[in-house]
Amino acid sequence: MRRNGQRQVHRGGEPFEELLDDIRIVVTRKSIKNLYLRVKPPDGHVEISAPLRMPDDTIRNFVRSRRPWIDEMRNRVQVSAVSQGVEGPLPLAQKWTEERRASAKRAMSAQLETLLPRWTAVVGKTPTSISLRPMKTRWGSCTPRTGRIRLNLELADIPEQFLEYVLVHELTHLRASGHGAKFQNLMSQYLPNWRQLRGELNKYVIF
Ligand SMILES: [Zn+2]
Repeated sequence: MRRNGQRQVHRGGEPFEELLDDIRIVVTRKSIKNLYLRVKPPDGHVEISAPLRMPDDTIRNFVRSRRPWIDEMRNRVQVSAVSQGVEGPLPLAQKWTEERRASAKRAMSAQLETLLPRWTAVVGKTPTSISLRPMKTRWGSCTPRTGRIRLNLELADIPEQFLEYVLVHELTHLRASGHGAKFQNLMSQYLPNWRQLRGELNKYVIF
C-alpha cells in the first residue's frame, strides 16, 4: 500500500492555457473572489480570470458547466465582434446568499452616497429610483420614461470606477435614449475615458 502519490492533487494557482474539449481556454490568476469568463473574438477562445488558489479542475469543471452559455457567446462573437457595451451579455455566477446580497448592497449604497449627488449635478437629471439587484445580462439599465435606474449588485465586487461608469451611462440615458451620437457626445463630455472603461468592464464577464 502506497502512502503517497496515489492520487494526483491539483493544487492550482498557476496560469495555464489549454484545449478543453474543443475550446481553447486561457487562464490568468488574480487576487479576486470570483471567476470571470470572457469569450473573445474572433476565434471564440475563452479568457478566464481565476482566484489565485482556485484548483485547475474547479476551473475546468466550471467552464464545462457553462458550455451552453459559452456556445451561445461564441455564436454571437462570430456574428458581431462589436462590443455590446455596458448592456452586453454577462451571466452571473456566484450564488447570491442573503448575506452576500446585504453586504454588496451596503458597499454600493455607501459608494453611491458620494457618486450620486456628484453625477446628478453634472448630468442635470435625477432618477426617480435606483434599485440594486443581481442581474444576469446587464450591468445596469434605465427606463427613461419612468426615470428608474437599476444597477447590478455585481458592481460591488469590482473596482469603483466601473460603478461610476455604469451610473453615468444610465444617468445619461435620462437625457438620451439609445446609444447614438447624442448619447456618445454626452458621455465623452462627462467621462472622457468612458470607452476605455467600457472596454475594461467588458473583461469582467461575470459568472
Ligand atoms: Zn445604455
